[in-house]
Amino acid sequence: MFDNLSFKLEKAFQTLKGQGSITEVNVATTVKEIRRALIDADVNYKVAKEVTDDIKAKALGRDVLTAVSPGQLLTKITNDELTELMGGTHQDIKLDGNPSVILISGLQGSGKTTFSGKLASYLKGQGKQVLLTACDIYRPAAIDQLKVLGEQIGVEVYAEPENKDAVKIANNAIKHAKDNSKKIVIVDTAGRLAVDEAMMDEISKLKEALNPSETLFVVDSMTGQDAVNTAKAFNDRLNFDGVVLTKLDGDTRGGAAISIRRVVDKPIKFISTGEKMDAIDKFHPDRMANRVLGMGDVVSLVEKAQQTFDEEEARRLNKKIRKNQFDFNDFLSQLEQIKKMGNIKDLMGMIPGMGKALKGIDVDDDSFKPIEAIIRSMTMEERESPELINGSRRKRIADGSGTSVQQVNNLLKQFNDMKKLMKTMNKMGGGKKGLAALN
Ligand code: GDP
Repeated sequence: MFDNLSFKLEKAFQTLKGQGSITEVNVATTVKEIRRALIDADVNYKVAKEVTDDIKAKALGRDVLTAVSPGQLLTKITNDELTELMGGTHQDIKLDGNPSVILISGLQGSGKTTFSGKLASYLKGQGKQVLLTACDIYRPAAIDQLKVLGEQIGVEVYAEPENKDAVKIANNAIKHAKDNSKKIVIVDTAGRLAVDEAMMDEISKLKEALNPSETLFVVDSMTGQDAVNTAKAFNDRLNFDGVVLTKLDGDTRGGAAISIRRVVDKPIKFISTGEKMDAIDKFHPDRMANRVLGMGDVVSLVEKAQQTFDEEEARRLNKKIRKNQFDFNDFLSQLEQIKKMGNIKDLMGMIPGMGKALKGIDVDDDSFKPIEAIIRSMTMEERESPELINGSRRKRIADGSGTSVQQVNNLLKQFNDMKKLMKTMNKMGGGKKGLAALN
C-alpha cells in the first residue's frame, strides 16, 4: 500500500537535506515535488493543489527551531495536512435502532459482498448478534456467495431467491431478525458495472424504506480517480454516512484514500485489505498519514498483534519502541508473530522503514528464513547491542547462518534505518522535545 507514493514523498523531502533553513525557494521546490507525487498517486488535482498550497503557507509561516531540520519540519506539516485531509480522527459506524440496519451500497465488483461478510464477522467478534441479508435480486450467484461467506464466519444469511422486490426482502429480513433476537441487519445490495439511474433508484428506495442507522458506500480504491467520481455520484443521490475503501492491499496508488474525504465530505470508516474475512480495519486518518509517509503504523500493528499475542508482549514492545530500545530479539519475535498473522507484506509495511525496505520485493514466509538465521547466529549480547557487531563478528554470523557478509550487512543497515525512523516518530509523536514543540 502506498509504496510508490511514500518513496516519492521521501525523495521530495530529501531535496531539503543539508539545507539549514526554510526559504521561499527550497520550499517551493519541495512542495512542487509533493504535489507531483500526490497527483501521480491519483490524488484529485484540485485536492493536491489545495493541500500543497496549505503545506507551503504553513512552512513559510514558521520559524524553524534549531531543533529540527527543514526536512523534518516539512514532513511534520505534511503529516498533519494529510491527517486533516483524510478526516482528522476515526469515526465509528452508528448502531441504533432495534435492530440496527446497515445498508451496503456501491458498484458491482467493488467488494460489497466480501465487505458485508467481513463486517458481519467483525461485529460478531464484538459479541453482537448479526443477520446478513442478500438483496441482490439480479444475480443469484451473489446470494450464493453471501451464503458461503455466512457459513464460513458462522453468521446466518437471510435470502429469498424467488423474490424480486429488494425492499420486501429487506423488510422480511428485519422482521426475521426481531423474531430471532438479532441486533444488527447488514443489507447487501445489487450493484451495476457503472452508475445508472435504475440502480440509484433502487438503492434510494431501499434507504427510504429501511431508514438504516448507517448507509455505507463501498468503493474499489484501485479505480483511482473514478473512485472519487463514483463516490460523488452515489453521495449526491444517497447522502450516505460513510465510505469503505476496498482492495488497499494491491498495488493501489492510494489516491482515493487521500482525496475522497475532501471531495464528498463523508468519513472513510473502514478499509479492506484482502479477500480473507479478517482483512478489515477501522480507518484512522493519522495512522494512514504515517503510512503514506513511509513511517509505518506501529499502533495498528500492535493492535493486530494483540489478537495473536498477549497484551503484555504488545505493551512491552510498544514501550521498547518508545524508549528506542528495540533490539534484534524484539525483531525476531516480531517476525515470528507476523508470520502467524497473514498478509505479510502489508503487515511488514506497518513497521517504520520496512515498507521502503520491501519495495519491489515479493515477500513470503521463506523470505524471512535468512533474516531469522542471521539473528539466531548472533549471541544474546549482539542481539541486544548490535553496535558490537564488527567485521569479524559479521563474518562469523554469516558463516553460522549460511548467508553472506553482504546479507548480514544489509540486515544491520535495515535495522539501523528502522531505529532511526522510530526515533523520529517518537520525537514527532510526543514529549516536549523535537517537532512536538512546534505545535
Ligand atoms: P460486489 O460485486 O461489490 O459484491 O464485489 P465482491 O465482494 O464480489 O468482490 C469482487 C472481487 O473483489 C472478488 O473477487 C473479491 O474476492 C475481491 N475483493 C473484495 N475485497 C477485496 C480486497 O479488499 N482486496 C482484494 N485483493 N480483493 C478483494
